[in-house]
Amino acid sequence: MLRKIGFERTSELVSALMEKGEVFAPVANSAGVNFQKIQEPGDVTLDFYNTLQSPKSVFFPQTDDMVRYRLTHEGTEAEEVPLDFEPRIVLGVRPCDVRSFEVMDRLFSGGGIVDPYWENRRKSTTIIGYAFDKVDPADFYSTFGIGAADPTGSDIFMVKGESAFLLKGITEKGEEVLGSIDLIEDASAKDKEYFEERLAGASLLETRTLATEGTAEKLEAVFENPYWVGAAAPCLNCGVCTFVCPTCHCFDIQDETLFGKGVRRRIWDSCMFTDFTLHTSGHNPRTKKSQRLRQRINHKFSYYVTNFDVISCVGCGRCIRSCPVHIDIVAVVEGAMALP
Ligand code: SF4
Ligand code: SF4
Repeated sequence: MLRKIGFERTSELVSALMEKGEVFAPVANSAGVNFQKIQEPGDVTLDFYNTLQSPKSVFFPQTDDMVRYRLTHEGTEAEEVPLDFEPRIVLGVRPCDVRSFEVMDRLFSGGGIVDPYWENRRKSTTIIGYAFDKVDPADFYSTFGIGAADPTGSDIFMVKGESAFLLKGITEKGEEVLGSIDLIEDASAKDKEYFEERLAGASLLETRTLATEGTAEKLEAVFENPYWVGAAAPCLNCGVCTFVCPTCHCFDIQDETLFGKGVRRRIWDSCMFTDFTLHTSGHNPRTKKSQRLRQRINHKFSYYVTNFDVISCVGCGRCIRSCPVHIDIVAVVEGAMALP
């Protein structure tokens, strides 16, 4: 059932959602727009293209405390940090980012070993997807069959109408949330027509595309090609491309101890950092930036395909928009695919 709420009532909608659980939504600051946990409903902006960082941190925060401990003369006292699985709602997720959750599910909860942090947060979260209104030149999500107004994977899907947000429950969980908020009105026949037109017409908002057939085999074949030296030449190894990426998931587990008290936490890591593969022995199998860029591309377009049967990229364009030296992952993959 389609419902609607006027733009001027956005804060009221956020307040109503906050009564159901923690709300994560886009907030603008001087750096751009990013998802964050909402304290003030008025902070939310739904007037944005896409966030600087992806919403993966809702399920996979940049730092996650796992164990706290005390070192005493008698030994170590340790306790697991209770897992935080309160109901959550994430509002305003673009369709390519919704797809990224499914790509990450294959790693964190689909491959036999289940990550309880990811899995339980996923289960306790309601996703409100949000249709794109335009296309950014960096985007290439059409490559992966993702539409600008694609409700796949959302619990509720939202389209910006002329004077109101139109909201449709896609799953039972989403329908239940919408049905329990009194201030959301039923949509009119005209609204329904507009909503359907937007969903059907989203194919007009096609992004550029990347030919991905056979990437796993081709990338394996050109592994030793000197192409990677040139492709990586401008790279600064800043790691931004991996931190903003919705499907990059590498992490490290580190201990921080001070005056006998410590915490063991999981933190994001990046294959673009020099010490990512540094062994305790001092040996580092990836000392060159060409090896690191090649790893990033191979992980997404070859190894992940082999292991999980899907490319670990959704074409959100963030790594391209954020790279300080304008390295374009589409051009890098196309260049590798064109090698003899
Ligand atoms: S953002 Fe650009 S410069 Fe930084 S590590 Fe990634 S490819 Fe290299
Ligand atoms: S590799 Fe780049 S385009 Fe692909 S999902 Fe990650 S940030 Fe988006």
